Amino acid sequence: MEELDAYIRNIPDFPEPGIQFKDITPLLKEPKILELSIEELIYPFLNEKLTAIAGMEARGFIFGSLAAQKLGISFVPLRKPNKLPYNVESLSYDLEYGSATLEIHVDALGKNDRVLLIDDLIATGGTAAASCRLIEKLGAEIIGCAFLVELDFLNGRKKLSKYNIHSLIHY
Ligand code: AMP
Repeated sequence: MEELDAYIRNIPDFPEPGIQFKDITPLLKEPKILELSIEELIYPFLNEKLTAIAGMEARGFIFGSLAAQKLGISFVPLRKPNKLPYNVESLSYDLEYGSATLEIHVDALGKNDRVLLIDDLIATGGTAAASCRLIEKLGAEIIGCAFLVELDFLNGRKKLSKYNIHSLIHY
């Protein structure tokens, strides 16, 4: 995965002091590297009979859509509040400071769906854990969660201990 690591740019103190922001835009500029990252994200789940990929706004949309396209299955967006036009299921969760909400269309998934959740990065795991709960509210099954980057020191994995977690690059 050293090959991918070279395309993740570290931006110190963004968006606030003390945060090391992992910028994936250099990777998006390189089609072959982007393709490699998509293949690496999905390979542990190729025999899992997935029916859908779910991705979180906004960078999860990029990797999630490409993965869904590659597998020939549905892509389902998880969005910030008041963006989805149809009826939604919604879930609020705690952040380190304050809270956030994610929404999904009520008919996006159902009890026959086997879902892989994809995002660019897992930090504290709050976003991914809330996404899994939201998907399960619709009756679908989470088969796994895949991330390009995992910030190991934040222990986000602990919040997802009942799921199969797959990350390509660890910091
Ligand atoms: P968390 O809920 O703490 O796991 O945060 C994960 C979400 O926040 C993901 O959608 C990431 O894109 C974003 N995020 C959190 N920390 C960073 C970081 N250091 N660099 C880039 N994105 C981040």
